[in-house]
Amino acid sequence: MKFDPASKIQQLKQFGEFGDVNPSITDSSTYTFLHGSDMAKTFEGMMEGCFLYSRHWNPTNKYLSEALAAMEDTESAWVTGSGMAAITCALLQLCKQGDHIITSVTTYGGTFAFLKNWLPKYGIEVTFVDISDLESIKKAIQKKTKVIYTESVTNPLLQVSDIPALSVIAKNHNIQLMVDNTFTPMIISPKRLGADVVVYSMTKFINGKNDCVAGAICGTEKFISDLSNVNDGTAMLLGPVLDPMRSASILKNIHTLHIRMRQHSSNAMYIAERLEKLGVSIRYPGLESHAQHQLHKQIMNESFGFGGMLAIDLGTGEKANEFMQGLQDNGVGYLAVSLGYFKTLFSCSGKSTSSEIPQQIQDEMGLSEGLVRFSVGLDNDIANSYLVIEKCLREIGMVKT
Ligand SMILES: *Cc1c(COP(=O)(O)O)cnc(C)c1O
Repeated sequence: MKFDPASKIQQLKQFGEFGDVNPSITDSSTYTFLHGSDMAKTFEGMMEGCFLYSRHWNPTNKYLSEALAAMEDTESAWVTGSGMAAITCALLQLCKQGDHIITSVTTYGGTFAFLKNWLPKYGIEVTFVDISDLESIKKAIQKKTKVIYTESVTNPLLQVSDIPALSVIAKNHNIQLMVDNTFTPMIISPKRLGADVVVYSMTKFINGKNDCVAGAICGTEKFISDLSNVNDGTAMLLGPVLDPMRSASILKNIHTLHIRMRQHSSNAMYIAERLEKLGVSIRYPGLESHAQHQLHKQIMNESFGFGGMLAIDLGTGEKANEFMQGLQDNGVGYLAVSLGYFKTLFSCSGKSTSSEIPQQIQDEMGLSEGLVRFSVGLDNDIANSYLVIEKCLREIGMVKT
């Protein structure tokens, strides 16, 4: 069951108005109709291919959505102004007051805060589980459970979700499986493994330029058309549509995503193997020592590697800060949140992108205050970058001899 998401995007024939190799940018919020009756029909959803207003659909967004749907092998997709907009709209489309969600406790901090602090205000109950413990998920299922939510590879602990097994559980109970695939575009194709809805922060690897925030929701034709329904679609009514100018630039960046993912992966593997030999406490799904290494191998597409994210545990926040300062001062990369950039980015998750997670829960899930998350860059001389990392570890006394 080989799947090649990169070729799926390359096979699309997307041209501009004059045969331009890049689709024309539709820089308009509204569209003219030749006849009054056409307008009424469009609002009733009866005019295929007609655009009515850019909060609903814009041709430029359609091109990017088409590319995302091709990459994910979903029927359709919709693009949003941020990853959080994609996640929140997709969840609110599936759940109403009185419903219940089961989620991995390790998720992106913003997602955790939405599930923990925001949804309960509107009567949606959420149970947090260890996503690798399938029994705990089965136990958490209630009659009113509508969604099981996880990340393919979780942030920041890099746990790999068993999407095929989760999908079986979900289908048996008529529950939707929603997967955030932000860390592993190309590498993992959640829909092909049984997920119903795939969400992305395109801010990260997909765009890969750190010049904007953006998101995407990929799913069935019906789900996307429900989301954008003028009467009760969550995306249409909450209105977090992506600007078409930005859509056009993300579409161009997606054409090099496969090459970037390969380079991020091979650089991360290079560093991970050597740090492990040095005796550093490291998490990387590409290492045999990673708890879900075999699972990752089973579910990944060929040739894109194990991704650009790795985490090392230095025990204390002080050591982590000292280390990151050394890395930045020696030019390894930037002390910054976010990921998928050409430069290596590093941050201390517990006090930054996961700070929304209360200390006690961080302790329970094994998120140490000394955990440094790396988004390994596209370094051309990774051997040199590694040597500098090793030097910085020695300087803070984390390597013997
Ligand atoms: C960054 C991120 C998000 C949120 O995306 P934004 O584009 O910042 O809104 C969601 N999930 C994951 C895994 C992320 O890394």
